[in-house]
Amino acid sequence: MKRCVIIGSGLGGLSTGVILAREGYDVTILEQESQIGGCLQCFTRRGVKFETGMHFIGSAKPGQTLNRLLRFLGIDDIALDELDTNAYDIVRLGSDEFRFPTGEVAFVEQMCNYFPQERQAIEAYMECVQRVANASSLHTLSLENADNAISTEYQLRSINEVIESLVKDPVLRDVLVGNLPLYAAQRDKTPFSTHAFIVDFYNQSSFRVVDGSDAIGLALQRKLEQYGGRVVTNAKVTKILSDEHGVTGVSTADERFFPADTVVSAIHPVPTLAMTDSPLIRPAFRRRMTSLPNTIGIFSVYLDFKEGTMPYLNSNYYAYRAGVSPWDCEAYTLDDWPRGYLYMHFCHDAHPRFARAGVILSYMRFEEMAPWLGTTVGHRGDDYERFKQQRAERLIDAVEHSFPGLRNAIQHYYTSTPLTYLDYTGTPEGSAYGIAKDISLGVSCHVPQRTKLPGLYLTGQNINSHGILGVLVGTVVTCSDLLGTAYLYQQIITANQSSIISHQ
Ligand SMILES: Cc1cc2nc3c(=O)[nH]c(=O)nc-3n(C[C@H](O)[C@H](O)[C@H](O)COP(=O)(O)OP(=O)(O)OC[C@H]3O[C@@H](n4cnc5c(N)ncnc54)[C@H](O)[C@@H]3O)c2cc1C
Repeated sequence: MKRCVIIGSGLGGLSTGVILAREGYDVTILEQESQIGGCLQCFTRRGVKFETGMHFIGSAKPGQTLNRLLRFLGIDDIALDELDTNAYDIVRLGSDEFRFPTGEVAFVEQMCNYFPQERQAIEAYMECVQRVANASSLHTLSLENADNAISTEYQLRSINEVIESLVKDPVLRDVLVGNLPLYAAQRDKTPFSTHAFIVDFYNQSSFRVVDGSDAIGLALQRKLEQYGGRVVTNAKVTKILSDEHGVTGVSTADERFFPADTVVSAIHPVPTLAMTDSPLIRPAFRRRMTSLPNTIGIFSVYLDFKEGTMPYLNSNYYAYRAGVSPWDCEAYTLDDWPRGYLYMHFCHDAHPRFARAGVILSYMRFEEMAPWLGTTVGHRGDDYERFKQQRAERLIDAVEHSFPGLRNAIQHYYTSTPLTYLDYTGTPEGSAYGIAKDISLGVSCHVPQRTKLPGLYLTGQNINSHGILGVLVGTVVTCSDLLGTAYLYQQIITANQSSIISHQ
């Protein structure tokens, strides 16, 4: 039996663990925190539960890509609640609101209602999104219809360039990228393929996880244990050990040794590489990984509403100040922060009438954290608490502008900064989504799933992309390398066939 140690129990580590354990590996996942899940974690204050990093998911209806992956992992029974099919996303630009309905035809018609003179452009845009999304075997989980030429072209063209080539109206251009905080896109840098995957993913169907995203982590942990694997918490890996043949295991901060023939690191590649001094990892590769840009961090305000006061908003709400485009929000000044925000409610029960909790998210650059570098959660000082309170008040004011009465409905609120994410996930700079894609870097920003140190693999949000689908696709990439691509795709097909039969 092959012994596999996985570093990190986020979505990437847990899903990789389930697949390898099912294929006969003896899997141990080591997690630095006391709670599993990384960004899937929830926390509870005064009896109210809050999600920290997975607020909604897409393509989860039977036959759609995420659903097929969840079935393959054996966790498709997680309770989900569908977002408003007439407006899963609402984008507010100044005082105008634009609703995104589920399904490509409904989306095109709705956009044509808002911008009748742009019908041709809207149809061309949606057709382009579909073409790019369907060209990727990883996005469709089908090896047959992959079109590498299209995939490559749109990995090298920026979102704004493609949209500007199709759409004339500047307002429509902004509406189409209204949910851009989901992928922290940057003008002239982020590839159109990233936009196409996310638009297609959520437009197919959008759901919240009933009672919190930690259900996904717990379901994966149960599957892992069913296949004989285990998660060890409070086990921070500090060293990847190797000899001239390859990895031999890992050791932890409290000096425990875990032997392994295969080590899969499901954390950011930079701290991973810092754990090994093997000469098989070339200095040029270390330099390349260290020089890659990370996506911006996020400031979150978690809202605890008075019971029965806040009608449940079954949509995600993205708002931008008058005259501000979704682009360039990361270039805020201290005076004009927040240029934009994303506001969402948590779904504590199926089809709730009132929300018990919500969250407001806005970009925050890591440089703002400079005064508190090196401090830890709960011990950063009064000035940090004051900083967070001032920022929270500004964000609440901004949302109150669109939702009068919001402030009165809040009984408590809590905050987190990029420093919180740095502490809880270990992602450098507390970056929201890990390594940023940049078309000007071409293939240099690609993070391989296999390293030159035999037995050391990478997975998680930096391999393919972030988000539930991006990470699970990264898991498929890494596990394909270990188990064989054709074999793994066949396993996904078989799991879905047998699952369909068992559901009949
Ligand atoms: C604010 C926010 C909102 C988001 N909203 C959504 C959303 O609505 N939908 C969506 O699909 N995606 C969303 N995402 C993105 C998504 O949550 C992530 O892309 C995904 O969960 C990352 O999974 P991961 O396994 O790669 O990494 P992580 O979740 O970061 O997990 C890494 C794990 O490794 C552990 N670790 C780190 N270092 C060590 C070490 N040395 N030893 C042992 N353990 C270690 C960490 O503690 C952590 O548990 C959001 C992200 C953020 C930040």
